[in-house]
Amino acid sequence: MKARVGDDMRPAHQGFDRRAWFKAAGLASIAAAVAVPSVVSMPAAYAAPLPAPGFITCPQWGARAPRKAITMGAKPTHVAIHHTATANRGARTRSAEDSFVRSIQTSHMARNSDIRDTLQNFTVTQGARIYEGRHRSLEAVRSGRLSAIGGHIRGGDAANQKAVGIETEGTFSSALPSASQYRALVHLVAYICQQYRIPVANILGHRDFAGNSTTECCGNAFYPKLAILRKDVAAT
Ligand SMILES: [Zn+2]
Repeated sequence: MKARVGDDMRPAHQGFDRRAWFKAAGLASIAAAVAVPSVVSMPAAYAAPLPAPGFITCPQWGARAPRKAITMGAKPTHVAIHHTATANRGARTRSAEDSFVRSIQTSHMARNSDIRDTLQNFTVTQGARIYEGRHRSLEAVRSGRLSAIGGHIRGGDAANQKAVGIETEGTFSSALPSASQYRALVHLVAYICQQYRIPVANILGHRDFAGNSTTECCGNAFYPKLAILRKDVAAT
């Protein structure tokens, strides 16, 4: 049965929100401080936001300019996990992985002349590097309130505006991401969820989105592991 898009049918414990949890922890700390007025403190680990992972930005990997200006939209509510369905090559040099990311942009833009840029927002390579895909995606995530509308799921701008698209390099039909690639993915997804306050229940596979149920993406081996990804993101 195809999973529903959205969190209304999912167990409440999957709706973890880092910021809400931080807020609750802070309130608990203040309540404790009332009982002991001389100690007013908040646990530093609770208050500290998750630092951004390192990104390789479009200029840094040598992206070509988009065909047309990127359409910016409202705050996304979901994260879409994909696999690139390319070879499992393992970690490579920075220049080899830059070249790979350029090849994705080239192949996406070659599909038709209406495609303005790389379709996904971010790519996590097998070398555990995190690349900006579509231009302005990093700016959007940093803002916490805008989306750089991609084209990684069917449904046009309305569907894509709702979901930050992440391509995980490889074919995960039988194989899985390496430990290092997976750690990079967890960090990226946790950072995105924090910035947009996306509950972990809304981290979905490509096939979970309405109208996208026929794709194998993000791979028949990786897809069942998304429940673990949600837990790992919540614990980050
Ligand atoms: Zn996909």
